[in-house]
Amino acid sequence: MDATCLDAFVDVLIDELAAVPSEVDVGAVLGRLVRCARPVVDDEALLGVLAAAVSARNLLDFVIASAVAAAERAGVPGRRHLRTGTDVLRLLGMSPGAAARAVRVGRMAPVLSALTTAQRLGGIGIEFADAVGKGVTHVESRVPLSEEDRAAVVTKLMMQTTPAEVAAKARAIGIDRVAALPVEGRVVPVAEDSTLNEMALAQNAEGRFEATLNLDVETGEELCAALDPLCRPVPLPDGSPDSRPISTRRAEALGQVLRTYLAQSQRPMSGGVLPHVTLIRPVAPGVSSDAGVDRLGFAGPVSAATADLIACDATLTSVIVDYSGVPLDVGRAERLFTPAIRKALAVRDGGCAHPGCGRPVSWCDAHHIQPWSAGSATSVDNGVLLCRLHHGLIHHGGWQVYLGRDRHPWFIPPHTPDAPEPEHLRSHARRTMTDLPTAA
Ligand SMILES: [Zn+2]
Ligand SMILES: [Zn+2]
Repeated sequence: MDATCLDAFVDVLIDELAAVPSEVDVGAVLGRLVRCARPVVDDEALLGVLAAAVSARNLLDFVIASAVAAAERAGVPGRRHLRTGTDVLRLLGMSPGAAARAVRVGRMAPVLSALTTAQRLGGIGIEFADAVGKGVTHVESRVPLSEEDRAAVVTKLMMQTTPAEVAAKARAIGIDRVAALPVEGRVVPVAEDSTLNEMALAQNAEGRFEATLNLDVETGEELCAALDPLCRPVPLPDGSPDSRPISTRRAEALGQVLRTYLAQSQRPMSGGVLPHVTLIRPVAPGVSSDAGVDRLGFAGPVSAATADLIACDATLTSVIVDYSGVPLDVGRAERLFTPAIRKALAVRDGGCAHPGCGRPVSWCDAHHIQPWSAGSATSVDNGVLLCRLHHGLIHHGGWQVYLGRDRHPWFIPPHTPDAPEPEHLRSHARRTMTDLPTAA
């Protein structure tokens, strides 16, 4: 087969879907059917189109996977100065994820003949085929499979109905097969085999990061041991219990582990410097172009409020102020709280100053009460220690903090401008030093 018959198919499809005035009663039958506004009397016609289109999609995905694998075998990417078939597909306009999947499926096809046969009939979607291929790889990473074994695994996986079920079945088969190995064949129990560890980390369409972990018991134990003390509930300022679910507190604990790690100096270097969170701020904020938006080194664009929070206490971060791509250094030394000022803040606030919190000093950012960018000084009277949770509440959550006449931080809970201002709350340290619920 060459491209001619596919071209002919595509041409026919384009003609069929061509926009035609509804009163014209010739050609473009498919176009009229799918754009028909009134309830279609003959459901079968529409269902038939759906069934045929799904088969066509499956077949075309199979053609793409097979063709890109053939292109790789023939060395096409190299001749085009590209690395892999994925690059070829991306250049043709496929999304990175779909391109990588097509290449995976194409590469696996030669060892999965039963699957390939089913794909040739149009009944198997590429997502399912990919899951089967991944499932076989998963099992083979645990036990060696003969050709016969592999065929049996493929058959079992193909009996599932969704990619998620295929993945679950593959894990179950892997565990069974390893358990069936003679003891001398099992050097390390699966649960304790760190060579099987995996961490997937991806940024989703909303810009959030999603991760999945697959860890051996020892690393898992270390993770639990590290997170556990950081997961404890924090009572609200009025003493009522923390309403956040454990999943939220665990995620916050992970953030704390990362910040503590990044604050250490004993860790691997990257390009001769200790890797830090990198915030790239335009010189003139508010410029409505891409270059005028605050960005993080790995994660991309962030809101001005988050950029302010990160820039507020940059002991954990390195801040590059960027002007048309040229990094500038603007008096980092004066902007940051010095160790002496932090020590003074630690004495005054004794940890997170937010009422009811009191998390230890080592968890805290030093927040500028008046933003440094607004020309304020970096001094004890302009600083307050806040854990990241409560630092976030100041920058994002409508809480306000000011230095009272007692030269201690005071907090104003969120309120609507027209509502009467709520009672101001004294800092955690002040509350624990007196019996009075509020200051005189
Ligand atoms: Zn701050
Ligand atoms: Zn706090």
